[in-house]
Amino acid sequence: MKRIDNHLPTKELQALDAAHHMHPFTANGELAEKGVRVITQAKGAFITDSEGVEILDAMAGLWCVNIGYGRKELADVASAQMQQLPYYNTFFQTSHPPVIALSARLAELAPAHINTVFFAGSGSEANDTNIRLVRHYWALKSKSSKKTIISRHNAYHGSSIGSASLGGMQGMHAQGGMPIPDITHIAQPYWYGEGGDMSRDEFGLKCARALEDEIDRLGEDNVAAFIGEPVQGAGAVIVPPATYWPEIQRICKERNILLIADEVICGFGRTGNWFGCETFGIKADIMTIAKGLSSGYMPIGGSMVSDEVAAVIGGDEFNHGYTYSGHPVACAVALENLRILEEESIVDYVREDIGPYLQKKWNALANHPLVGEARIVGMMGAIELTPDKANRAAFASDKGTVGLICREHCFANNVIIRHVGDAMIISPPLTLTRDEVDLLIERATKSLDATLVQLKADGLMKSA
Ligand SMILES: *Cc1c(COP(=O)(O)O)cnc(C)c1O
Repeated sequence: MKRIDNHLPTKELQALDAAHHMHPFTANGELAEKGVRVITQAKGAFITDSEGVEILDAMAGLWCVNIGYGRKELADVASAQMQQLPYYNTFFQTSHPPVIALSARLAELAPAHINTVFFAGSGSEANDTNIRLVRHYWALKSKSSKKTIISRHNAYHGSSIGSASLGGMQGMHAQGGMPIPDITHIAQPYWYGEGGDMSRDEFGLKCARALEDEIDRLGEDNVAAFIGEPVQGAGAVIVPPATYWPEIQRICKERNILLIADEVICGFGRTGNWFGCETFGIKADIMTIAKGLSSGYMPIGGSMVSDEVAAVIGGDEFNHGYTYSGHPVACAVALENLRILEEESIVDYVREDIGPYLQKKWNALANHPLVGEARIVGMMGAIELTPDKANRAAFASDKGTVGLICREHCFANNVIIRHVGDAMIISPPLTLTRDEVDLLIERATKSLDATLVQLKADGLMKSA
């Protein structure tokens, strides 16, 4: 079999990449000068670069490789499905076994009142679908004024113009004219950064009640839905206070607006249950799924809807769909991924075994002089870097300066840990062993130590 990976020296691969490949979320000019790191293969929790260096991937790619890399079963299923039926659409009164089987399996796994799925090719597409879905839902109920969707600052819901508008990332909104109309944003439940002197629980209530204020401001008859990630991922693994979700739930119910839980990261075991909704006791009308659905082996996403929403939408033609909605190969691979998650009890492993083990070690990083807080749910965690632990102080340097320094040390120590501002975040494969957790913590600690030395040398240990 002809392999095209690593067929050229690294320098030549880098030059071709710089000349022809525009990277997402990247200053491409800068990257071209520095030279991209080329990843050629992966196994379990480790990726390997074109120089043969093995790196522990504590991000599971982009929060998605839940079962770890290199599972041949998924490759075999993809190969078989491509030979039997590589593609067919689901638009014109046709279906196929993989999409049928996956839909039925997802209905079994989802909370009891959610039994229907509309497929997309990604989380972004699925959230675009959700915008149209909730507006169409209210129109069908003769309430077409209910259009506005309320989201949160610093939320991440994707990168298409609709889903990025739902998201609350300032840097994204600053480019290309977002948010689109009829999407608004309220405070995020980010106690460490914004809670001030309030207790976590007080702050959680305050943030949730911002939803009620926003509904009042807009008028209940104009609001279609609220969208939130059970735990904000890209926002820096923001774990909401315990008071937050119950209050959001109460408000959505009382004020007659739909609740969309974006499960793209939290779903499929990440928080120690099949869905983040279970971990946080959320009863959603719609759940967005992607990432861990296929462990990233194939692009696939979807919107799972409650029986009530499905019944209303089913009353009319929904003029919406993607060429790759319910792609047979992606569905077959997702189904195999779900089989592995189930048969190898990986969700239980996260909840009862490796999750608690990682949590204990991760939380202990809070003892490091550079760390102001450690937080973790299931297997998604963050540490906040600070020049002054006692006061949860931010650095005087531009936000992200220190985080980037720390990330570079992690990279140099062969562990992939991402930075969001000056927080460091992890979301490793759910199949991590205890030895691998130990290695992750060892490399993270080494990187924190090196960061502290550099910050002191560069005079960056200063509070804002
Ligand atoms: C990654 C992500 C998305 C977008 O998914 P894509 O597959 O990148 O389009 C949406 N929501 C959340 C919570 C995500 O983390």
